[in-house]
Amino acid sequence: MASTYNEKGTPSSATLSVRALHKSFGVLPVLKGIDLHVQRSEMVFVLGPSGSGKSTMLRCCNLLEEPDSGAILIEGDKLTGPGVDLNKMRQRIGMVFQSFNLYPHLSALGNVTLALRRVLKMPREQAESEAIAALTKVGLSNRAGHFPSQLSGGQQQRVAIARALALKPTVMLFDEPTSALDPELVGDVLDVMRDVKEQGMTMLVVSHEMKFARDAADRVVFMDGGVIVEQGPPEQIFGAPTQERTRTFLSRFH
Ligand code: ADP
Ligand code: MG
Repeated sequence: MASTYNEKGTPSSATLSVRALHKSFGVLPVLKGIDLHVQRSEMVFVLGPSGSGKSTMLRCCNLLEEPDSGAILIEGDKLTGPGVDLNKMRQRIGMVFQSFNLYPHLSALGNVTLALRRVLKMPREQAESEAIAALTKVGLSNRAGHFPSQLSGGQQQRVAIARALALKPTVMLFDEPTSALDPELVGDVLDVMRDVKEQGMTMLVVSHEMKFARDAADRVVFMDGGVIVEQGPPEQIFGAPTQERTRTFLSRFH
């Protein structure tokens, strides 16, 4: 992947960089020095046992958790520091959670429109047309007027993806986006994620959808105990992992 340059002319090879990230909760060290670089339009999958720090790492990437030390950079720009507008930086990061977090009293269209009005201060008419465009991208333009309770879990998650996408982030983070869904609804959400990738989005995805990771990920990262144990192309991590911990973890999914 070619290097990119940010507006300050600083060379930066990665769209999202996590550098020497440390985070503890009280006396419990959860992230023990994470270095991870996601290139433009790359989809990187993060696997690892429960409690290994995957969600904490994602949450540090948009400062839902404050790192103890280390840095997060978006296109070479530090997320925090003197003179940094945190709200502006956060707009460059889209986040999709396991629980879709839609407003129950707003329609699909209302949920996406509200984000555009609140975050980007867009006038209503423009926000609505952008929201329709985003809902169309996730195949839900015909459900725009439906409330969350009238949508399946998979459709609700697709609305949540549309909401994140509508804000035109630089990078999107997904934390187990399909793990709350009935199995028959998972495929539609994964199809949408594949479309988002094909449109060139940079994506960091925590998920245990192994078949999807194998098919669609550019790179797979295996985390355990707050460190990256190994990473590589999916065929290597799934086919010939070099670390015993990775082999043990993956054997549970066979
Ligand atoms: P994963 O997403 O890989 O399952 P998490 O990042 O959620 O792991 O959690 C890693 C560890 O950090 C776990 O031991 C968890 O209990 C702990 N942890 C996560 N969030 C908090 C918090 N807000 N306060 C205290 N401990 C936390
Ligand atoms: Mg988690």
